[in-house]
Amino acid sequence: MSELKHLVANASAVEMAVVTENAPRSSEQVHGLDRERKRRLIAAVVERIVAHVDELTALDAAIGDGDHGYNMKRGFEAVLQDLDTLSAMSLPDLLKAVGMKLVMKVGGASGPLYGTLFLALGKELPAEPSRAQAAIAFEAAIAAVCARGKSGAGQKTMLDVLIPAQRAFAAGGDAADVKKTALSAAAATAPMRATRGRASFLGERSIGHVDPGSRSSSLMIAALCDEFGEG
Ligand code: ADP
Ligand code: MG
Repeated sequence: MSELKHLVANASAVEMAVVTENAPRSSEQVHGLDRERKRRLIAAVVERIVAHVDELTALDAAIGDGDHGYNMKRGFEAVLQDLDTLSAMSLPDLLKAVGMKLVMKVGGASGPLYGTLFLALGKELPAEPSRAQAAIAFEAAIAAVCARGKSGAGQKTMLDVLIPAQRAFAAGGDAADVKKTALSAAAATAPMRATRGRASFLGERSIGHVDPGSRSSSLMIAALCDEFGEG
């Protein structure tokens, strides 16, 4: 089975496992980040994605099937609808709930992959993570995406942003450093030849275009960095 078909076929399996094992609990208790901060972080990511839907669509039209912008908008707007419930949850439960929503709503290859990223972050992060714990959880979540996508660095995918951004964060970079790393890593996918995902069907013709998933990852990271950078 191609990795694309494998991803789509496994989306409902991920969903079921999550629903049964990790049903998120709404909680009045606020851990680490307070409720207002969580609201702002979620809203910032959603707004950033929604503001770039046309760009993501155009990138995916060039080397894919043109649905990445709409896929992401559908998923992240569904997340926004649950803003009140989500911001009342502990950080791990919030991340698991976002992951589940993305698996169910985004679709395509990126839905199960982003779903896996957030679900794994929710499983790995303690409620009040230190910076070191956050870096370790981010690394483990990326490993989960690699396992689900049967993919790794250098294949012109979202991983080509997630991996360098995690490294910049783990190395002690501040919000501005991590943001800059993520944005330039997305731009740096343009000269790469895709060997995973739909763009790989184009072979050499995938060269010269920024990968849409790498761009959406960079937008999410940039939005989070802008929020954290403001203290
Ligand atoms: P689809 O390709 O099914 O239409 P999307 O357009 O929503 O799905 O998402 C495409 C993005 O998903 C790609 O730009 C790439 O970054 C990412 N992607 C696709 N397959 C993989 C994979 N196996 N591993 C990591 N990322 C992948
Ligand atoms: Mg697509």
